[in-house]
Amino acid sequence: SGSLFIVATPIGNLKDFTQRAIETLSSVDWIAAEDTRHSKPLLQHFAINKPLISLHDHNEQERIEGVKQRLRQGENGALISDAGTPLINDPGYHLVKALRDEGFSVVPIPGPSAVITALCAAGMPTDRFSYEGFLPAKAAKRLQVLQTLTQEGRTMVFYESPHRLQATLEAMLEVFGAERQAVVAKELTKQFEQFVGSDLGEIVEYFKQNPDRVRGEFVIMLQGADEQPEREENADDVLILLLLKQSLP
Ligand code: SAM
Repeated sequence: SGSLFIVATPIGNLKDFTQRAIETLSSVDWIAAEDTRHSKPLLQHFAINKPLISLHDHNEQERIEGVKQRLRQGENGALISDAGTPLINDPGYHLVKALRDEGFSVVPIPGPSAVITALCAAGMPTDRFSYEGFLPAKAAKRLQVLQTLTQEGRTMVFYESPHRLQATLEAMLEVFGAERQAVVAKELTKQFEQFVGSDLGEIVEYFKQNPDRVRGEFVIMLQGADEQPEREENADDVLILLLLKQSLP
């Protein structure tokens, strides 16, 4: 049977389309795209004219059988998303899982992804990092998720849309404090690419003073918590006190 190629597309700059991505998309029998209307001009730009199948969050499950059938018939297909690497906060997980479970061939064609693009130029520790994707839209839920990350020692990476950037940065300031270092990467690989790096207090202030900068696409990177061995000792002290209290009359 045929293969499904998972093909990364540019996150802004069209020159980031890899040669292998273009060759693969030019050779498959069909392309499954998150939004066919969005992908059509991109594919046309590279003279790729293939039948497009829509595959988004709401029809992914229904599409799986059809894709399997096509692959069984020996067709090769590709999966692309609107931008960057499929499955990285984009559809495709259920499809890839279903195909792998049945032994189909799934082939990655790597390329841009905002998370790696942001990390490699931010000046944040990258030896270990935690990709957090989008925070919940509702304020209470967002705070709740952030609370679970206060002790996270790895660099944390978040995706955010422009209309929630301020609220998210303010929530981070509330939970992690004004001193915590962060870098906001904006419009990566595009004309107005920008990195804003400082502590959360200053970053929140910067976007308050420059509301015109809150436009486009954003990645927020947050420095991990410092290792605090004294904290642990403190925790032990508290525990000992509690135990002492319990054993006192
Ligand atoms: N699959 C994509 C990837 O590999 O990065 C991510 C798709 S997700 C639906 C879209 C989010 O990715 C945006 O809201 C933004 O947080 C981030 N993003 C995508 N392109 C970006 C860019 N050029 N600059 C900054 N952030 C970007």
